[in-house]
Amino acid sequence: MHVMVLGAGLSGVTTAWYLTRAGFQVSLVDRQPGAGLETSFANGGQISISHPEPWANPGAPAQVLRWLGRADAPLKFRPHRALAQWTWGLRFLLECLPARAHRNTVAIAALALASGQRLRALRAELGLEYDQLERGILHLFYSRGEFAKAPARAAQLRAFGIAAEVLDRDACLEREPALATCAGSLAGGIFAQGDESGDAHKFTRALAHRLEEGGVVLHRETEVSALETGSGGRVVGARVRRADGSVDSLRADACVLCLGSHGPRLAAPLGLRLPIYPVKGYSITAPVLEPALAPYVSLTDESRRIVCSRLGDRLRVAGTAELDGFDTTIRAARIAPIMAWVQARFPHAIDLERAEPWAGLRPATPGNVPLIGRSARPGLWLNTGHGTLGWTLACGSAAALADLMSGRRPEVAFPFLAAAEV
Ligand SMILES: Cc1cc2nc3c(=O)[nH]c(=O)nc-3n(C[C@H](O)[C@H](O)[C@H](O)COP(=O)(O)OP(=O)(O)OC[C@H]3O[C@@H](n4cnc5c(N)ncnc54)[C@H](O)[C@@H]3O)c2cc1C
Repeated sequence: MHVMVLGAGLSGVTTAWYLTRAGFQVSLVDRQPGAGLETSFANGGQISISHPEPWANPGAPAQVLRWLGRADAPLKFRPHRALAQWTWGLRFLLECLPARAHRNTVAIAALALASGQRLRALRAELGLEYDQLERGILHLFYSRGEFAKAPARAAQLRAFGIAAEVLDRDACLEREPALATCAGSLAGGIFAQGDESGDAHKFTRALAHRLEEGGVVLHRETEVSALETGSGGRVVGARVRRADGSVDSLRADACVLCLGSHGPRLAAPLGLRLPIYPVKGYSITAPVLEPALAPYVSLTDESRRIVCSRLGDRLRVAGTAELDGFDTTIRAARIAPIMAWVQARFPHAIDLERAEPWAGLRPATPGNVPLIGRSARPGLWLNTGHGTLGWTLACGSAAALADLMSGRRPEVAFPFLAAAEV
């Protein structure tokens, strides 16, 4: 059986890998010249199993209101006329209801744990190198009020089976000595030992390379312009446009949609309404000048929603969320808080003059729970909508989809799509 995976970001490449393992004949299609060149290119680098809570949580609406009008707000809403943005926003509000937020957190935690295990197994098996570090993630709290909630949060993580330890300020500095020069008003942290970090693009590229070595065809610079259907509305392939302008029809027995934020546009003509909207984020990547002054432990600043990962001789700092349609322009006002954050904390560690800014679109569902499983259209499967956690959830989601397509029940307790749901 030939499965065509549409999109070669983290989701697409891992999907192709686990499908190949399950015995399917697989091909990949992407409009870019290589794998992982859109949202999977320069993300925060965190395998953040310890952050299953979605942005849509009971505290979010008040927080967003407080940030309104601030150019440097961690979450910014730029109203568009597009109905999709407003519909998504309303569904986001609905997902903030306590019961829904809890249900989403439980689902994401289960998938994240399974995904971490899959990633470790894959890395050991293939010897993949992607500047990975198994040093955990330290969640930092700069407000006493927020830190007061840390014990309850750590206890909840432990109840999910996720290692989490509350550290006072001194213990944070012991865990990551590079924080010593900049501890300032640090109140304390939560340390998650089982978390990791690494370069998602290097990983995606390396895995795509292994796939090609094994005979999987990656159709590069091939833009999917429409999904094609046959009798009974079954999806039988895709109409594509190649870089030389030629148009072609690629056929398959089944297709998997892994097109990030761009999936809904291609699914809509088939009557499928995928609740995915692009949530823009930014990062900078700068060369490390003084290795001892730059952190090795991956950091999450819980107050400012900024994350930081050491990637070999580079430091990646990422954050901010903006609802601004499909625009990927790098706005100075949005990069500024990231620059200021790293300048204030690690001023002598990196070369900020040579920092490379980047912006990408998180393919986000309102509750941050990805869409994995069979779509309402025969022949079309989904593994998409991973929002803020596409790197963390990649291997677990892809392995689960391969199980579902093989007729097996995935081991992870997660609300996989039932036919006709989406
Ligand atoms: C600033 C930022 C920081 C982040 N930090 C983290 C983090 O620390 N940890 C974490 O777990 N997650 C993080 N994420 C989220 C994570 O990066 C994403 O969830 C993930 O990259 C999404 O992968 P994807 O494969 O679904 O999408 P993409 O990587 O965008 O892949 C989709 C692919 O489809 C292709 N494509 C699109 N349209 C077409 C078309 N019409 N025809 C052909 N090809 C097409 C694109 O070229 C692309 O390669 C972050 C995201 C951002 C923006």
